[in-house]
Amino acid sequence: MDHGNASDSVLLANIYAAGGKWDLSASIQQQRKDGGVKKQLDCTWIEVNNEVHRFVVDDQDHAEIAEICAKLKRLSGEMKNMGYVSDTKFVLPDVDEEERHLHLCYHSEKLAIAFGLISMPPGIVLHILKNLHVCGDCHTSIKFIAKIVGRLIIVRGANRFHHFEDSICSCRDYW
Ligand SMILES: [Zn+2]
Ligand SMILES: [Zn+2]
Repeated sequence: MDHGNASDSVLLANIYAAGGKWDLSASIQQQRKDGGVKKQLDCTWIEVNNEVHRFVVDDQDHAEIAEICAKLKRLSGEMKNMGYVSDTKFVLPDVDEEERHLHLCYHSEKLAIAFGLISMPPGIVLHILKNLHVCGDCHTSIKFIAKIVGRLIIVRGANRFHHFEDSICSCRDYW
């Protein structure tokens, strides 16, 4: 582990969480909070009409947050009809199932994508920039969203580009 790198420590904590090793996951997160690693806030940026919009997880500050959440709710319904099941292993276990699903809905990359969809005309490619790794649930969700809206969605994560088009990602699910 590179102790100066928050992105790596978040990835490691997520790997432990996904494997059910909550105690290890929690201890990595605690180390990060204790200042071993400077906590880097999970952020996603999107440029719309020459203006950069920044989102964090559970963001409430954006002027159009109500419309963004409404859009995510509609998308989430369509995704479920297509067979999407939320992957709640990316959320810590001390929250109940409904809340875990909601928490996943408000990851910063989903907020940025929903905002891009309601702000830019159909057909325009969405370019998203993210400082950390894309989580597994967001990765799956974005594949569904790309299919539903019929747009190319390009996400640059911490270490690579993902081109989502027609329910497939260019990384072939290895990242
Ligand atoms: Zn996510
Ligand atoms: Zn990908």
